[in-house]
Amino acid sequence: MRILISNDDGYLAPGIIALAEALAPVAEIVVVAPDSNRSGASNSLTLDRPLSMTRAGNGFYFVNGTPTDCVHIALTGMLDYRPDLIVSGINNGQNMGDDTLYSGTVAAATEGFLFGIPAIAFSQVNHGWEHIDAAAKVARDIVLRRFDELPSPYLVNVNIPNLPYERMGPVVATRLGRRHQAEPVIRAQDPRGRDIYWIGPPGATRDAGEGTDFHATAQGQVSVTPLQVDLTHKLQLDLLARGFA
Ligand code: MN
Repeated sequence: MRILISNDDGYLAPGIIALAEALAPVAEIVVVAPDSNRSGASNSLTLDRPLSMTRAGNGFYFVNGTPTDCVHIALTGMLDYRPDLIVSGINNGQNMGDDTLYSGTVAAATEGFLFGIPAIAFSQVNHGWEHIDAAAKVARDIVLRRFDELPSPYLVNVNIPNLPYERMGPVVATRLGRRHQAEPVIRAQDPRGRDIYWIGPPGATRDAGEGTDFHATAQGQVSVTPLQVDLTHKLQLDLLARGFA
């Protein structure tokens, strides 16, 4: 099995190092990741300048671009083969509910999916990398378990509680929950008296009921959500079509 690994926290992040170390014994891996933290980059592509790729001492490749750039370049200009799987993460912090729209971790996986390759995004629920080795072991279990019950390509979003491996709950299938609107930006002034704004934290959970990713991880379970990319609102399409008729 040949696996392309990326993330949005950058190629030096403990999460991608742990993930690569966990997968290297069981697969042929190549790591292509941003040169710096690009969390929140979503599916953005860099179109206003060329990009470069550099090989680090540990064999990882880093790109001065977004997570989506990394996977896009790897698939269309770098690798002379088609990977069997794209794996992204392990992210420093949860990507649940509405987070998935902003997440660069999910976006790296999505880019692989859009190229027809199965893809899995991994995130640890809490920031700070506590029990990252346990999370990497869970990620390896999930990769080796495969998703043969899903049509290929699939796009799967996994959130792993920060627990020791022995205390990790079962892997469960979930739907995305929802958050309230984000907290307001932090407004301040720069040293020259100009207003500056710092994007605030995401909103609290609004739908964290049973069956959601929020609910599962709160119980210590590993949340696995199958994602799709089609944003069409099917019900409103019918309403609109009838309105136009
Ligand atoms: Mn991140």
